Amino acid sequence: MNPSKPVILLIEDDQQTRRFLKTSLGHKGWRIIEAGDGKTGLSMLKNDKPDLVVLDLGLPDMDGISVTKRLRQLSDIPVLILSARSQEQNKIMALDAGADDYLTKPFGAGELNSRLQALLRRINRGYPVSELFQTGQLKVDLAARKVFINNQEVNITPIEFRLLSILVRQAGLVATHRQMLTEVWGAEHINDQHYLRIYMGQLRHKLEINPARPRYLLTEIGVGYRLAVHEA
Ligand code: CA
Repeated sequence: MNPSKPVILLIEDDQQTRRFLKTSLGHKGWRIIEAGDGKTGLSMLKNDKPDLVVLDLGLPDMDGISVTKRLRQLSDIPVLILSARSQEQNKIMALDAGADDYLTKPFGAGELNSRLQALLRRINRGYPVSELFQTGQLKVDLAARKVFINNQEVNITPIEFRLLSILVRQAGLVATHRQMLTEVWGAEHINDQHYLRIYMGQLRHKLEINPARPRYLLTEIGVGYRLAVHEA
């Protein structure tokens, strides 16, 4: 990977969107290579070795979920999905099939850029993630299993900690309901979204100044949760 100019493979059939993204992301220091359908995109993934994929769910030749699954078989490259409002259910299926994040059309170039930066940070950070995570006033020590707000330790339960550490591992990116329920309670609980509402509500009460207007633990309606990343 060339750290000075990361390469995005943009798989999108709409020429206008492609032109817009090529120009706006180009200005922000990304290099864009383009594919107009799923098959071309998959072959470019193999031949051109991009750093990230931006994938439109509505392609002429393949559905977005099949493209996502195929991408995942070929590579662990970060995948950000672009979806129309009508593709809500497909978006969730694509996330559960291994896509890393999504944006709903229409979106701004600045928003897309910050999502791509979050994905890039995760690649550069590598695995395992650093044991100490900090954003704004929130600090999470993954090794010691301790959480701090304003350097004051907060008492959290083991389940709350597990939920928080999922979000920390993919800070800035969405975690789906299914992913969180599976990791914490097991696959038989993928429909028990009320568990998440209860425990995420408790976490907000402990970590947010105003739990009704969370600054860290954001809700992605119908999809999951996202830990917001704030500059130091
Ligand atoms: Ca399309």
